[in-house]
Amino acid sequence: MSAPTLRSCVDAKCRECGGADGGARFWRVHVSACPVTDCPLWPVRPLARRNLPPWLASRTVGDLPADFCALTTEEAVARIRSAVALMDTETATNSAASASSVPMDGGRA
Ligand code: SF4
Repeated sequence: MSAPTLRSCVDAKCRECGGADGGARFWRVHVSACPVTDCPLWPVRPLARRNLPPWLASRTVGDLPADFCALTTEEAVARIRSAVALMDTETATNSAASASSVPMDGGRA
């Protein structure tokens, strides 16, 4: 058996900490939504492998929508999913401003 890598150790810690409620299928999305930006692992936390808005993929606190860290995990996950749905399919661009305009219910009402 090979030794664990630093990557696998960080992934395991974040999965246990912020991803537990996401289960086997969605733990990465839940960790992507982690609001604990002062955690030393935040910049290197595992992110969802696809459909991630650029303001989250940048791993930069300043790129997050202003209210993002005040959201519940469920609200943050809904915000991420809604932002991806709003992305311009031609340019694949998005912005924190457009993400902030998404209603709390993810626009499903
Ligand atoms: S980055 Fe978030 S999920 Fe990962 S260990 Fe820190 S607080 Fe937990």
